[in-house]
Amino acid sequence: MKCKRCRRAEAAVDLPSHHAAFCPDCFFLFFRRQVTEGIRKLRLLAPGDRVLVCVSGGKDSLVLWDVLMDEGYETEGLFIDLGIDGYSDRSKEKVLAYAASRGKTPIVVELAKEGIPIPEAARCVRMQECSVCGTVKRYFFNRVAAEGKFTVVATGHNLDDETARLLGNLLHWQRGHLARQHPLLPGEEGGLVRKVKPLWRVSEVETAAYGFLKGIDYVTEECPMSEDATSLVYKEALSRIEDRMPGTRIVFYQGFLDPSNPLRKGPEAAPIPEEAPMADALRVTDVEAEGDTGTPRACAACGAPTYTETCSFCRLKERIRKARSMRTARGSR
Ligand code: SF4
Ligand SMILES: [Zn+2]
Ligand SMILES: [Zn+2]
Repeated sequence: MKCKRCRRAEAAVDLPSHHAAFCPDCFFLFFRRQVTEGIRKLRLLAPGDRVLVCVSGGKDSLVLWDVLMDEGYETEGLFIDLGIDGYSDRSKEKVLAYAASRGKTPIVVELAKEGIPIPEAARCVRMQECSVCGTVKRYFFNRVAAEGKFTVVATGHNLDDETARLLGNLLHWQRGHLARQHPLLPGEEGGLVRKVKPLWRVSEVETAAYGFLKGIDYVTEECPMSEDATSLVYKEALSRIEDRMPGTRIVFYQGFLDPSNPLRKGPEAAPIPEEAPMADALRVTDVEAEGDTGTPRACAACGAPTYTETCSFCRLKERIRKARSMRTARGSR
């Protein structure tokens, strides 16, 4: 089959949802246009932004970093080593190798050194790994962004991730989550750093094809903690629908993002500054996780913005500390 765009080269990527098939060069163009269109439509990034790209070693985040660099954005990568046996080392290797190939050195946070490797921390406090991981990652995204004077944090969530989350929120009528779900979470004065998901218009298959054809080497294994993730069930269900009715995913998500949708607030209405502002306040917060409203105050322990006395990260650390000292006390009896 010939490429639908140049009509010369052989097509390498078949995209039924777009009624198209492209050769590698035309696919690169198509993919980058999808991403830049997604950024432009929702005003995710502005000129002068310093973008902190959260890279896990997987395809989505490395492809995101690749596209943003090629599009001329000022970016740095952040890798959080979760302390998961084997998997974290392999992921780090991929991130370092990719970064080196682009002349970059990523910022690395090692949770083992911070005293909170995810599997052990989760066991200590008898919580699900993903729940601990979410709190810890949010904390470091914001902290590293503030320390490095970044104006925005970008993550590699794609259309499959976003629609799976949307389906889950709808099935459980999570009205609060639905109101806030959006590829743009605006920063808050005295609160959060802006967070964006520039890959919201591209599917997992398209992202994987881009990574593969570009020769980006990424970890293909899933995080071993993700086995029970319900999001995989929603992804599977949506994939079956997409197979039968190509294009359903993007229609589903774009319809949800429509400003007239009463289920949503309109974060895109929040102003994005031309020049990146940098406030000391862009430090750390659990405001997003808790979904509260009002004016955040500084965490009594670490100074991060929070609506409670101490932020969820400090509360988690305190629970871990207590659990460990009880364990030690029991062990010495
Ligand atoms: S699957 Fe869970 S533990 Fe693994 S990276 Fe994702 S949130 Fe963290
Ligand atoms: Zn072509
Ligand atoms: Zn705190």
